[in-house]
Amino acid sequence: MIDRRRFLFLSALTVPLLSSRRSAAQKTDRVSTVKSKFPVVVSTWDSGIRANAAAWNVLGKKGRALDAVEQAARSAEDEISCCVGLGAYPDRDGFVTLDASIMDEFANCGSVAFVRHIKNPISVARKLMETTPHVFLAGDGAEQFAIQNGFERIPEKLSPEAQKAYKEWLKKSQYKSVINIENSKKRSEVITPYRFDDGSPNHDTMGTIALDAKGNLSGACTTSGMAFKIHGRVGDSPIIGSGLFVDNEIGAATSSGVGEEVIRICGTHTVIESMRHGMTPENACREAVERIVKRDPEKAKTLQVGFIAIGKNGKVGAYSVQKGFTYAVTNDEFPEGKVYEAESRFE
Ligand code: ASP
Repeated sequence: MIDRRRFLFLSALTVPLLSSRRSAAQKTDRVSTVKSKFPVVVSTWDSGIRANAAAWNVLGKKGRALDAVEQAARSAEDEISCCVGLGAYPDRDGFVTLDASIMDEFANCGSVAFVRHIKNPISVARKLMETTPHVFLAGDGAEQFAIQNGFERIPEKLSPEAQKAYKEWLKKSQYKSVINIENSKKRSEVITPYRFDDGSPNHDTMGTIALDAKGNLSGACTTSGMAFKIHGRVGDSPIIGSGLFVDNEIGAATSSGVGEEVIRICGTHTVIESMRHGMTPENACREAVERIVKRDPEKAKTLQVGFIAIGKNGKVGAYSVQKGFTYAVTNDEFPEGKVYEAESRFE
């Protein structure tokens, strides 16, 4: 049995944070700033384009950003992917445990963590936010709250993809010393064996931030966390100020990557505070990345974290520790959505 310190170290080095479905031939612009009018919605990773489509159904009709980001997260939770929803990869004991958070333009927020058996934890987080004085529920209590509020309890059953990946992982039951550098030469090493039958890698936490037609911001973040994590491990995604933060006067930000690193610097809160002090969304995301790198430059070379942010004027920014962090932007100019690759600290 490895101890916690060693696990956290190893998991930072090794968890298969895989980039989502995009053919190698597809060219993605390498851009960290996208100017946009609002409404606009931005999500992490290539798969964000599908989440954005769900959000755009709301935003395109002048709907509220909060409804849009909830729909984005739900659509990701309804898909089968390695890192979001009940179809995702389990923890090292074989259980799928989910984390989610949501935040609106009034700084109302709700989070759930370490939840099992619930298909749409993002909606449980919203229910908690809107119907109780509380912000955060975890574990059995969160599941109980969900069921009391009419959410269906889905019996434990790994998706075929997760079952396969888990069986593969169990052969060694160890954290491989490969890292999440999606587009590096080591890419094939990194994604093996954590990819789907069609060969496409798939991951990740779905973080979505939106600015609606009224100029209001909201965000949502949903994940199963790191694959094959210690049972009970919770990352940055459900922690307000780490994986998600919204300040309706300034902007909204969300993150993906090694959650422990994001928590240590209160990542998305840091991004928004930098924007408050005048930085562009891109520079604010860069600043947060620099803090991660500065804390432990050697370790930073071996891990991935990416941030995305939207300013109050619709300007979008992104930046990551390693090359390969993509994000999807959907607005009136690109109602079908467009995927960009963020600039990064290391190539
Ligand atoms: N940030 C997530 C976590 O640490 C993982 C991810 O982004 O895939 O739980």
